[in-house]
Amino acid sequence: MINFQYARANDVADAVRQIAADPTAKFIAGGTNLIDLMKEDVERPTRLIDITRLPLKSVEETAEGGLRIGALVPNSDLAYHPLIEQRYPLLASAILAGASAQLRNMASTGGNLLQRTRCYYFYDTATPCNKREPGSGCSAIAGLNRMHAILGTSEACIATHPSDMCVALAALDATVHLAGLAGARTIAFSDFHRLPEDTPQRDTNLQSNEIITAVELPARGFAANYTYLKIRDRLSYAFALVSVAAALELEGDAIKEARLALGGVAHKPWRDLSAEAALRGQAASQAAFARAADLLLRDAKGFEHNAFKIDLARRAIVRALTQAAAGTPQSQSNKKIR
Ligand SMILES: Cc1cc2nc3c(=O)[nH]c(=O)nc-3n(C[C@H](O)[C@H](O)[C@H](O)COP(=O)(O)OP(=O)(O)OC[C@H]3O[C@@H](n4cnc5c(N)ncnc54)[C@H](O)[C@@H]3O)c2cc1C
Ligand code: SF4
Repeated sequence: MINFQYARANDVADAVRQIAADPTAKFIAGGTNLIDLMKEDVERPTRLIDITRLPLKSVEETAEGGLRIGALVPNSDLAYHPLIEQRYPLLASAILAGASAQLRNMASTGGNLLQRTRCYYFYDTATPCNKREPGSGCSAIAGLNRMHAILGTSEACIATHPSDMCVALAALDATVHLAGLAGARTIAFSDFHRLPEDTPQRDTNLQSNEIITAVELPARGFAANYTYLKIRDRLSYAFALVSVAAALELEGDAIKEARLALGGVAHKPWRDLSAEAALRGQAASQAAFARAADLLLRDAKGFEHNAFKIDLARRAIVRALTQAAAGTPQSQSNKKIR
């Protein structure tokens, strides 16, 4: 039996005060990741700060024409929110490609950003893992690494970030709103998650005294031409081997704006601005899509069991962009299943 204390936060300032006062405390929202990690003895918070009663559950329109999503909006509510379905269907599609209906009902927006890797060794406390225990070594580099990263890896860690929702948020250029002891601040979505480098224990740039209060979407939603394509071992209830969030704005056949982000390939949702730039101004064609894929994957490096991901990612990018250009999004099969 491992004891821990439980406390409720009354408001955001109280949540910040409580987390700042105890470095071994953790916030709990839906609990769908944290509780599993506690059961597996991977996380051992001495205190859980329940934030589920904070007023962070609404989706509001911003003055700039975008949306501000409270950190406690459940994944299901977000995916089926009329403004998300109409204006940001890429995000709805990505959320519905993840987990199961029951999990999505519990999982929160903030918690989804902070879910931890699904590397088997991270969960197995009998094996060395630099993310779980810095300096102990990485069991995956010479071990079973089929699910692992092909981009942005380091000698310390080759884990991937498991979220689907975050891949769409990266492509949509979201912003994360935080509150901490020093006040409120925002951080671009692409700067929120980190690459492993030599500190794989740090997944994000969130400070220890900060809470996520919201995620903001800019006005541009790419509602006409988008696809979230998730390739996985089973059609449901499995994490991505490779996923692609593709979004285009077309003028006739020409690409006016392009967004491309990948999941399942790196320690963070992988977005490459040069691949997007290479698409702008081009005719929407297989050749242009293949060039963008090659550019995005130019530094990809496979390990013993995951080298197949490089070709898989290349093909998935071309297929996702082709579907986006045709206006036929892929992940519609989950629609209206709660
Ligand atoms: C079997 C299974 C399958 C899954 N499949 C998928 C999948 O295919 N795709 C996918 O994307 N996800 C998948 N998930 C993950 C799921 O989406 C996450 O567990 C969920 O989004 C986490 O949200 P939560 O609110 O439950 O977080 P919690 O478990 O409550 O918290 C997770 C972490 O976030 C911190 N936290 C939570 N909210 C805040 C906040 N506002 N500010 C600061 N810190 C905070 C907590 O302290 C904790 O460290 C799966 C999960 C399970 C169990
Ligand atoms: S890949 Fe990262 S999470 Fe997995 S064993 Fe290595 S250090 Fe740990």
